[in-house]
Amino acid sequence: MNKPFYKRVLLKLSGEALMGEKGYGIDPFTVNYMAEEIKKAYQLGVEIAVVIGGGNIWRGSEAQAQGIERATADYMGMLATVINALALQNALEKQEVDTRVQSAIEMRELAEPYIRRKAIRHLEKGRVVIFAAGTGNPYFTTDTAAALRAIEIGADVIMKGTKVDGIYSSDPVKNSKAKKFDILTYMDVIRNSLKVMDSTAITLCMDNNLPIIVFNIRKSDNLKKIILGQKIGSIVLKEVKNDTGIQEES
Ligand code: UDP
Repeated sequence: MNKPFYKRVLLKLSGEALMGEKGYGIDPFTVNYMAEEIKKAYQLGVEIAVVIGGGNIWRGSEAQAQGIERATADYMGMLATVINALALQNALEKQEVDTRVQSAIEMRELAEPYIRRKAIRHLEKGRVVIFAAGTGNPYFTTDTAAALRAIEIGADVIMKGTKVDGIYSSDPVKNSKAKKFDILTYMDVIRNSLKVMDSTAITLCMDNNLPIIVFNIRKSDNLKKIILGQKIGSIVLKEVKNDTGIQEES
């Protein structure tokens, strides 16, 4: 039961995952916690890439509402993801996890440019690769960047770490009657407009048959347990079968 179920995973963390209980920015204790969770998974020998969001600092759509031109606001959002990537890299390296940051917008002084083959090489050498600056294009999200990078590097799964236990019929924070789904299909997500990822990200995953697991990253060891094959959170697949090989939570 100690053999990883996946060989290569892409972990998506929103910027808010680094914010902790603060209303804005980065909470160092929370970043260290995230790094610890990643380290526990890394020690299993699984290859880990991370796409980090920027919503704890800047969101293009919100800035647009305040009068900043959308493309400019989005580039500002992509820069926010670079700040988060460096914070996470710092926390991981303090815990002696070898990392590389690759940025979709060139900033050679502080990150490698995104080069797919190089990213794969780093993963093979046991480095955690943090992808910064989203897709490098405005009008996209870091969820779409996560789907794109996961497909490009041949990840087995996208694991979206959130503050709730999985995918619900409606927001469980606002609606106590919201139902949690254990397994569902891409079409279920699209038809019911479930808040998993934006539609560009979902369709990319669907077209490339990339499973998505949504789980609570705030529960310690969840990431590690899922990588070991435990059924935690919600999984989105092409079709719902009972022979996924994933085991019930013990
Ligand atoms: N963004 C973008 N293109 C991308 C990824 C991100 O323009 O490929 C911008 C967009 O403005 C977005 C912001 O960066 O609002 C932060 O990313 P996101 O909202 O996805 O972060 P998260 O919600 O995951 O923290």
